[in-house]
Amino acid sequence: MDQIRDAILAGADSATIASLGVPSSYRAAHLLASEAGMFDGMASEAKDPRRSIHIGEVPTPELAPDEVYIAVMASSINFNTVWSSIFEPVSSFGPMKRLGRESEWSKRHDRDYQVIGSDASGVVLQVGTAVRQWKPGDHVTVHCNHVDDQDNTAHNDSMLAANQRIWGYETNFGGLADLSVVKANQLMPKPAHLSWEEAAVNALCNSTSYRMLVSPNGAAMKQGDVVLIWGATGGIGAYATQYVLNGGGIPVCVVSSDEKAQILREMGVDAIINRKTAGYKFWKDEHTHDESEWRRLGSDIRDLVGEDPDIVFEHPGRSTFAASVYVTKRGGTVVTCAATSGFMMEFDNRHFWMRLKNLVGSHFANYQEAWQANRLIAKGMIHPVLSQNFSLDEVGEAAYQVHTNMHEGKLGVLCLAPQEGLGITDPELRAKVGEANISRFRR
Ligand code: NDP
Repeated sequence: MDQIRDAILAGADSATIASLGVPSSYRAAHLLASEAGMFDGMASEAKDPRRSIHIGEVPTPELAPDEVYIAVMASSINFNTVWSSIFEPVSSFGPMKRLGRESEWSKRHDRDYQVIGSDASGVVLQVGTAVRQWKPGDHVTVHCNHVDDQDNTAHNDSMLAANQRIWGYETNFGGLADLSVVKANQLMPKPAHLSWEEAAVNALCNSTSYRMLVSPNGAAMKQGDVVLIWGATGGIGAYATQYVLNGGGIPVCVVSSDEKAQILREMGVDAIINRKTAGYKFWKDEHTHDESEWRRLGSDIRDLVGEDPDIVFEHPGRSTFAASVYVTKRGGTVVTCAATSGFMMEFDNRHFWMRLKNLVGSHFANYQEAWQANRLIAKGMIHPVLSQNFSLDEVGEAAYQVHTNMHEGKLGVLCLAPQEGLGITDPELRAKVGEANISRFRR
């Protein structure tokens, strides 16, 4: 891969990139099927991704006609990196076994290892025979919606496809590697004003937040909507906050430290709740809710913005879900994409039906939504929330930091990129967008 990296860094043209070929093996962060039971019986918090994530050479798979090889310059840690590396809620080797049964080509995914990672920025190295829109040398970012578009259910909204999967989580050959194999319909143009690592951290979280808040498939936020955002400086929350500010909404942001609150103030957020200082205890014990604490949250929100949220951007799950349902305005919407603290939900349905609230389940984004979200990044209207970079060798440590909530925004991973700050091809746009916006989360 060294020769490929050097050619990319030297700005080689399409023909030169195409002539380089691909190596027979490549460096990748991967899990081993033989270790899927290694944390059995342990509490989630004790499961350590540094033990399960391995860095080493894996064989290069053959390329299907609708796929491309990417030289991965940078990638990012997502919470699904944590889920897959602690084998929760299930081991990802099960979904890959099922994928392996779908077609001759999909058999490649069913291996005794999994290359993880659901984000990447990089350069197209080779394209399969059926690829029309992309060519070697193209600078790209990759979104993680993996669908077989020859299945009728993959059309209209591809997130409803029967065979929809998340690349690098429910498939093999993910982005935390020097090379990746992706379907051509996962590609998007790399935003030219960003470095490789700034471009790599957006697609999964940014597209998810776009669908949850902006898309008619989600909460379809409108101007003036009050939006309660849990984890407002986390991976998806930091993009959600930007969408609410951009779209003329009124964000009420919940975070757990003064440092995170300060980032939000710099973004232009006025209504901020520090959940640690507030000390909410929505559960009296493991089985008993405390409705007075839901009311206290609702009252804190009213003190800040004078009304109840039209939309709640929900993902912590069991610990907050009942409170989220309670505080939502009459006729308002809870939109959820996750359950970090536990997926068995419980809430008081009386507050839900009597006040005619809505609940929307949301998952990643279809190609069009991901493309629109990427377009906003490329125009400098939504910004990366990269806080810190790690090397590929440090993926385990980076995943550990996300697992233990030590991070802000997104953690980037340098794969082939030898250092930070490379890959910017439109410095004028960068100057116009402003370093303060692009680097707001850096530390
Ligand atoms: P992050 O860890 O980056 O951010 C989540 C933030 O939520 C934390 O930083 C924390 O912020 C807050 N939080 C965590 N636990 C609690 C809790 N018990 N109560 C209140 N707040 C809490 O993760 P992401 O934003 O990347 O992802 C969040 C969840 O969304 C994950 O479960 C992830 O798997 C899921 N997800 C789902 C997607 C989909 O397509 N379905 C796509 C992307 C993510 P603070 O401490 O500051 O309050």
